[in-house]
Amino acid sequence: MKEDYLKTNEEVLEELRIQRTGLSTAEAVKRQKEYGKNELEQAKKETLVQKFINELKDPMLIMLIAAAIISAITNIIGNEPLTEVFIIIAVVLLNAVLGVLQESKAEEAIEALKNMTKAKCKVMRDGKMVLLENDELVPGDIVILEAGDGLPADGRLIESKSLKIEEAALTGESVPVDKMVNVLKLKDNEKEITLAERSNMAYMGSTVVYGRGVMVVTDIGMDTQMGKIADVLNDTVKEETPLQKKLNDLGKKLSYLVIGICIFIFAFDLFRVGTFDLSSILETFMVAVSLAVAAIPEGLATVVTVVLSIGVTRMSKANAIIRRMSAVETLGCTSVICSDKTGTLTKNKMTVVKNTGDKTLLCKAMALCNDAVLNEDDSIEGEPTEAALVAYARDNNIRKYDIEKESPRVEEAPFDSSRKLMSTIHKLSDGTYIQYTKGAPDALIPLCKYKRLNNQEIPMSEKDYQEIYEDNRGMADEALRVLACAYKIYDKVPTDLSPKNIEKDLVYIGLAGMMDPVREEVIPAIRECLSAGIRPVMITGDHKDTAVAIAKQIGIIKSQEEAITGSELDLISDEDFDVTKYGVYARVKPEHKTKIVNAWKKKGAITAMTGDGVNDAPSIKSADIGIGMGITGTDVTKNVADMILVDDNFATIVKAIEEGRRIYDNIRKSIQFLLSSNMSEVFAIFVSSLMGFTLLKPVHLLFVNLITDCLPALALGMEEAEDNIMKRKPRDSKESIFASGMVLDVAFGGILIGALTIISYFVGVYFELGSIKLVTSNLGMTMAFLTLNMCEIFHSYNMRSLNKSIFKLHNHNKFLWLSMIVALVIVTLVLEVPFIASMFGLMSLGAKEYLWAIGIAIFVIPAVEILKLVKRMSHK
Ligand code: ATP
Repeated sequence: MKEDYLKTNEEVLEELRIQRTGLSTAEAVKRQKEYGKNELEQAKKETLVQKFINELKDPMLIMLIAAAIISAITNIIGNEPLTEVFIIIAVVLLNAVLGVLQESKAEEAIEALKNMTKAKCKVMRDGKMVLLENDELVPGDIVILEAGDGLPADGRLIESKSLKIEEAALTGESVPVDKMVNVLKLKDNEKEITLAERSNMAYMGSTVVYGRGVMVVTDIGMDTQMGKIADVLNDTVKEETPLQKKLNDLGKKLSYLVIGICIFIFAFDLFRVGTFDLSSILETFMVAVSLAVAAIPEGLATVVTVVLSIGVTRMSKANAIIRRMSAVETLGCTSVICSDKTGTLTKNKMTVVKNTGDKTLLCKAMALCNDAVLNEDDSIEGEPTEAALVAYARDNNIRKYDIEKESPRVEEAPFDSSRKLMSTIHKLSDGTYIQYTKGAPDALIPLCKYKRLNNQEIPMSEKDYQEIYEDNRGMADEALRVLACAYKIYDKVPTDLSPKNIEKDLVYIGLAGMMDPVREEVIPAIRECLSAGIRPVMITGDHKDTAVAIAKQIGIIKSQEEAITGSELDLISDEDFDVTKYGVYARVKPEHKTKIVNAWKKKGAITAMTGDGVNDAPSIKSADIGIGMGITGTDVTKNVADMILVDDNFATIVKAIEEGRRIYDNIRKSIQFLLSSNMSEVFAIFVSSLMGFTLLKPVHLLFVNLITDCLPALALGMEEAEDNIMKRKPRDSKESIFASGMVLDVAFGGILIGALTIISYFVGVYFELGSIKLVTSNLGMTMAFLTLNMCEIFHSYNMRSLNKSIFKLHNHNKFLWLSMIVALVIVTLVLEVPFIASMFGLMSLGAKEYLWAIGIAIFVIPAVEILKLVKRMSHK
């Protein structure tokens, strides 16, 4: 069979039974039934069983399994019931099941985020251009390609206007290749043309970097070249955030520590008892097991993952879609936001409000040199700047579809943001050709040589130039976005269509000044940034005066001195560039953005950088947080971004930062809470074993770690942001989660709760024996169990704020209340249902004992309040 690149495009169209106007929806549905969806096969997801086994590989669970084995041996030798062993095994299984559930939930959340940012392409259906998700494409679809688009399928090009495509993913060659529509011919004894040389084909996985084109889809899904080499798309790599990595590390370290302490206690105990008979060895073994259980924060990993995934879901509802989990943590450290102007700080709803020069000619030129479409019903589709110009022409009774019939476009040099110009060549009725060029005035005016006076083209004088620049400046000072426009006549279409060749010796027409109102929500967002120690920076392709006028209006800068242009920036070496001096960069090229990011990085700042165009990808990649635009962004930038703004809005970035700070704060609270609980258990078990009695059994500790701790810890993850969250400086990205006194707080909380538990034990001993003795007492154990549980419940309330008094918090956390009540009910069940109580080796308590145990536990609140007070005073 003949390859598609050896056929004329008519042949291809005929074979696929399709016309240039595209498929009908009915036909597309039929074809999709036949060919399936345009998707690459995904790597098989882990089965539930595989996930379950992976969970069991967790070092902490391995420690628990070891503990179960040891206590099984001890119990069998000691001829005791195996209840404890079963409970530990149940806990291990429960933990693994919860792990699987939570992981599946987190995966679902990520999957949902992915679906929200599914790539779309421009397709002709039913004679009209529509946006479709890539997987909806079928063979025969006509796809429109523009700079920045990712190729959604394989296809034969049927139209190319300076089209350049980068095919590195397939060919390894990162230099873009020129694409055209001509039929290719095999050379002698050549069987096929290599992929890299098939200049009339475009392939899935590559990207359009310049120009425009149209292709007809020939292959989709696994039939594409990408499908053949990729086989399966493996994008399910699990990513751990820096914090999760650190916590895993902590888990491992704790395990070693536990083993160390166990050996110590074991040796110490044997030594202290002095006898080496079996029963005392078994007893010390059990102490070691208790310690292991006490020290391991079973719920930590789960809590962190759950809080993170709930956080990203919440962010997506606020229009910020996280593409890399670690971005959530980095957001909280962000100290500089470099933002585009158009569309992010302003509404990107342009209207032409002023003009100079011949209005009719200006309207005609601006509407023809333009890719926006004026529909029959006079509505307009297209990029806002272009749409504004078509609308302006329409409002002056010049309709694009009418003038396009008179002078159809034959050639073009598409707009690109480095050149800041766009040109189109049109055929006139007298057989000659006219070129219209529009673009940034400072790029276009120097290319103009003539002006039009009384229907004649005469050379421009120095004074003419001066006047035009004056006009431009006047409009820019009013915060208008100004475009200039010119023309040129040809007898025939030039052979060399490169911008350099055609964009010169132009005849100047005039200027159009467009208003692009500022987004109202941006002004308070900028104020919030400043109070939160975050520097907002505007980076724009627009004129300096326009940029300065808008930046002043929204509060980014106070004086003109804080603004610099791209060409001024070029004159400063990287070493001399003091990035902190500037809040506005105007007339920049995409390369400048990378220079700015790198300069900030050198200063130790954590930068967020927005981008939309094809050329923004490198700077987005080098920023700590690369932000892609959901509406105006190209596929290229979205694919490298860490976060995507659904609404392109600057205020959304600030919200996401606040959310990032909140999530980190809450995770910190949860971690501190869980670790202080482990600390208290280790302390209490350690001290009691030194004193020679059994304070609590391993199952009791497991119960606390899994029930009384996990529920409130999760609820702490849902805390609302504290009042001062956007009034303090960004967190230092190098700062450890244990910084700013966490170790001290954990030690304080741990020793306090441990001590209260031991006190409660002795109260129990006193009630049972009438005096205080260092012996194992069932009543003491039950009271210690109750006090430890109640301490955790009360202490979770303490943790709502690490420094503020809980009596001064304004908001409520209903999840925390709920979790405290549920924990309380379960604790009561364990104590009061005789069957469960005996399983746990606990006894029923009377009212007096209840009151004492709870009364002792309440003490944790005033004690921590005093600590917070001391901390606040020492801060001052
Ligand atoms: P920002 O970088 O803040 O998004 P921008 O939209 O002005 O600002 P670019 O899209 O790079 O940045 O445009 C740079 C300049 O090119 C604009 O200021 C304008 O003068 C000119 N320009 C923009 N769009 C067109 C167009 N379609 N045709 C011709 N010139 C254009």
